[in-house]
Amino acid sequence: MSDDGITMAIGRDWPEVREALERLCARFDAAYWRRLDAERAYPAEFVRALAEGGWLGMLIPEAYGGAGLPLRAAAVALETVHACGGNAAACHAQMYVMGTLLRHGSEAQKRRWLPEIAAGRVRLQAFGVTEPESGSDTPAIRTRAERRGDRWVVHGSKIFTSRAEHSDLMLLLARTTPLERVARRTEGLSVFLVDLREARGRGLEIRPVETMINHHTTQVFMDGLELPADALVGREGEGFRHILDGMNAERILIAAECVGDARWFLARASAYARERRVFGRPIGQNQGIQFPLARALAATEAADLAVRRACALFDAGAPCGPEANMAKLLAADASWQAGEAAMQTFGGYAFAREYDIERKWRETRLYRIAPVSENLILAHLGHRVLGLPRSY
Ligand SMILES: Cc1cc2nc3c(=O)[nH]c(=O)nc-3n(C[C@H](O)[C@H](O)[C@H](O)COP(=O)(O)OP(=O)(O)OC[C@H]3O[C@@H](n4cnc5c(N)ncnc54)[C@H](O)[C@@H]3O)c2cc1C
Repeated sequence: MSDDGITMAIGRDWPEVREALERLCARFDAAYWRRLDAERAYPAEFVRALAEGGWLGMLIPEAYGGAGLPLRAAAVALETVHACGGNAAACHAQMYVMGTLLRHGSEAQKRRWLPEIAAGRVRLQAFGVTEPESGSDTPAIRTRAERRGDRWVVHGSKIFTSRAEHSDLMLLLARTTPLERVARRTEGLSVFLVDLREARGRGLEIRPVETMINHHTTQVFMDGLELPADALVGREGEGFRHILDGMNAERILIAAECVGDARWFLARASAYARERRVFGRPIGQNQGIQFPLARALAATEAADLAVRRACALFDAGAPCGPEANMAKLLAADASWQAGEAAMQTFGGYAFAREYDIERKWRETRLYRIAPVSENLILAHLGHRVLGLPRSY
């Protein structure tokens, strides 16, 4: 058991990664995150520290300049950032977005981009899938890319494309064959690597979307954006399949962040419940305070096991769609339970910004909706695993 009694002995796999990240996070304390939240500022110094430490390239194979570590190591790194009170949302996409390039990109694309990304010289932080009209129904996206000679010409718009203003590259999903001309709705979509440095002002415009958390999300408008032929990643028309592996990695890594958030809430709330005295005794002596925390602890440990299982399957190259989705569902629920229990434990002080509870509570709420909402996960499990009629 760790000092705080929260992290179970089983929680200390990859201790060298945990310890290194704990040291790095100690340089970015609660006041740092609080100030950024108040100013809606991007954690540039934190992201730079992660990049310089090689953490953002940890999944990139050694042959391309990365550390070649498994997904589990990345999950541990992100879990640790969140357990320390930080927020890895500013950079987690770099870890999973490059997976599409790695698995489906040409050798020339990989040689050009992966070493630069691994060295932290090029940022691949933006992933443009969601659109205003299509929402969760990804195959219904309207952004289209047409081949004209040696160029692709893109028209359309994306919403909630996070970090586009802080990224050099964006992985973009667009329709290359109209929906009415494909046999299956998931066909006819393609993935492109857009160099935002060249595209901005030349057919591509980015506008920030203000949200309740400090997430740097944007709308991206493309009107006659021209891309070189070699911006296409993988095979034309198979983009949906190409991004699926990356989406599983995304779900697993975000689930790990939720486990970290839950552990942070539980550590903070149980310390406060031991110290805060009302009616002449610690509030944690009341079962009305103690039991919600204990229940959230059980949910967190169960979610952690689900994350580990999903990582093990992913790292073995086995199919892991249901497991990645279940890990995200359970972990987002656990962090929300822990956040709610922490809110009740801190009482009025939960609302005082200096305690950081309200900030983390807002931040962790996102993951019951993004990158895929609970209902869509349940519908996927109901249909794909339980064999029930498809509802979506
Ligand atoms: C801060 C933030 C950052 C984001 N970052 C990115 C990003 O970087 N890149 C990106 O591509 N996207 C991003 N997203 C988008 C996110 O993935 C979507 O918001 C999410 O997938 C849900 O889509 P939607 O908001 O359009 O909801 P909708 O699809 O409109 O759904 C609304 C509600 O209806 C429910 N619903 C819809 N259809 C069904 C059904 N058939 N059965 C049951 N319930 C249903 C949903 O579960 C949800 O609860 C981000 C979102 C936010 C808020």
